[in-house]
Amino acid sequence: MKGTILHKIYAVFTEWSHHLPAACSRGCSTCCTQNVTITALEGEDILRFVTAENLSSWFAAKLALPPIHRPATMTNNDFAGACLEGRDADPGHNDNTSPCPFLEDHSCRIYPARPFGCRLFTSSKRCSSTQPALVPDFYFEAATAVTQLIEHLGQREYWGNMLDVLPALLDISEFREIGTHLEQAGIIKARLRTLTAKPLPGFLLSEEDDGKVTQLLESIFAAEIGEKRLEDILNGK
Ligand code: SF4
Repeated sequence: MKGTILHKIYAVFTEWSHHLPAACSRGCSTCCTQNVTITALEGEDILRFVTAENLSSWFAAKLALPPIHRPATMTNNDFAGACLEGRDADPGHNDNTSPCPFLEDHSCRIYPARPFGCRLFTSSKRCSSTQPALVPDFYFEAATAVTQLIEHLGQREYWGNMLDVLPALLDISEFREIGTHLEQAGIIKARLRTLTAKPLPGFLLSEEDDGKVTQLLESIFAAEIGEKRLEDILNGK
């Protein structure tokens, strides 16, 4: 059920964002760094794809590389909660520009199962190591709101850097085969670098939003799975 909800959120976001002018094209991978954060739900999607595509040993070799990324220090919902309560909060700096290990020849090998943190990448100008991505403020706010909703969906489960959450999930029986290629000590260390996903404390929307973000959120909440609205499902009704 949670997987179905996740894919529905992806679909509504894609529909909402596809009118934006984007300079991104196949083979352009500047934004594919080791800074992607995910929920366990998104990690399970990736591991399922890897298993179905018989990529287990290739994937395990990537996860076995010595970690050079920074572990996440606070979740998006922790950060939003602190801001909404007027507390100081430092979400850490995502300054690791090392390429994502799942890139091959500038293409993502797990593209169909990529997490939302990758799906939200866009830029209206071609970016490079010296030219950051250019996105309108409302898009940044909208993408942040969706990451918060996805974290809410995965609450109480692992949340963190993709390269920590993925090994952390390898004790789930359907993914154990991938884990057999890795040292247990590395898996335990990765698990210790993860955080726990939190419920949504509220959104960080600016007063300047001219309704575009609200429109996206309303579309997500109004989407239906079976006979139920996503808003009700996310509220535990
Ligand atoms: S998972 Fe794929 S899309 Fe995401 S950063 Fe890595 S290579 Fe890029």
